[in-house]
Amino acid sequence: MRVTLIAAGFLLAGLVGYGGSCVVRPFRDCWLCDGKAHHRSKRNPALSRPCWWCKATGKRLRLGRRAWNRARRIHRDAT
Ligand SMILES: [Zn+2]
Repeated sequence: MRVTLIAAGFLLAGLVGYGGSCVVRPFRDCWLCDGKAHHRSKRNPALSRPCWWCKATGKRLRLGRRAWNRARRIHRDAT
């Protein structure tokens, strides 16, 4: 019982911390191009093309922020 309570506390603290970090830094570097917005072809390393994953911005919305935006959109559409 007590262990469950402590675990739930840690989980909640982690969630709050992650949520806060998503508010402070909603974007993270793209995993495909490392935030460079271009990535090199595997067959021809000299060839550099715009990153299709982040649409050549080098940034991706973080998962928590994307979930938050979706929740806000659902809430806004409902009212
Ligand atoms: Zn990218």
